[in-house]
Amino acid sequence: MGRLAGRRIIVTGGASGIGRATARLFRQEGASVAVLDRSDNAAKAVADEIGAFAVTCDVSDPASVSAAVAKAAEAMGGLDGVVNAAGILSETGIADTPHDVFARTLAVNLTGTFLVIQAAAPFIQAAGKGTIVNIASGVGLIPTGPGSVAYVASKAGVVGLTRSAAMELAPTIRVNSVCPGAVETAMTAAHIRTADGAPNPAIAQRYALGRHGQPEELAAAILFLTSDESSFMTGIALPVDGGRTFH
Ligand code: NAD
Repeated sequence: MGRLAGRRIIVTGGASGIGRATARLFRQEGASVAVLDRSDNAAKAVADEIGAFAVTCDVSDPASVSAAVAKAAEAMGGLDGVVNAAGILSETGIADTPHDVFARTLAVNLTGTFLVIQAAAPFIQAAGKGTIVNIASGVGLIPTGPGSVAYVASKAGVVGLTRSAAMELAPTIRVNSVCPGAVETAMTAAHIRTADGAPNPAIAQRYALGRHGQPEELAAAILFLTSDESSFMTGIALPVDGGRTFH
């Protein structure tokens, strides 16, 4: 018996990085998993590999989200939880962030998380009990420096959205967020290592543990917040960041 035996969970952004590691771990722990991602081929490849359902979805599009969540719930015979891991990065500051880049970053990272919660909550309520885990970011708590204004705003928004949803959806649905530090995924590939493949010292020196993280280390924390082991936790923003923010 796994720690998620019998649970039916949607993982958005499950085709890559933290979402993929989470989908894989959840399957190992006995859950049925639906991978929702805008990337059809990658989602299907992951789903085939781990024995999950793949559903194409653009989380920034309300019609796409409601159709994909309904399809996932139908495929799994219901819904007990969601992990919102779909996201995009933008790394420009106030002066050089075009309006459309700011809007797109908010649309995927913040509005997308909201839309999935809105579509999924009735299914989870129908199941009687469940969880939502949103992937925010350590920069949503404390930015690492200037720049990334849209990304930071979107992730701080996810922390607030999580708290609001936790109040509104209690006691049936527990809603928590995790706030990763730098994790080695496609999103960070351009920065996390130097040209010779060594860890980027400019990133590593920010962390008490002196290194960046791996997707599996985030998946473990997301599993904890999805399992009954965290049954008295809701509305929190849990840093999983090698000691950068010390919250
Ligand atoms: P990733 O790029 O490896 O994976 C992101 C996934 O989201 C991809 O599969 C992509 O196709 C999907 N996606 C993007 N836009 C989408 C959309 N509109 N609709 C549906 N799917 C979409 O990145 P990752 O590092 O695994 O990031 C996962 C989450 O963790 C993101 O929310 C990211 O902001 C957050 N995060 C990552 C880090 C890090 O250092 N990697 C740190 C803090 C927070």
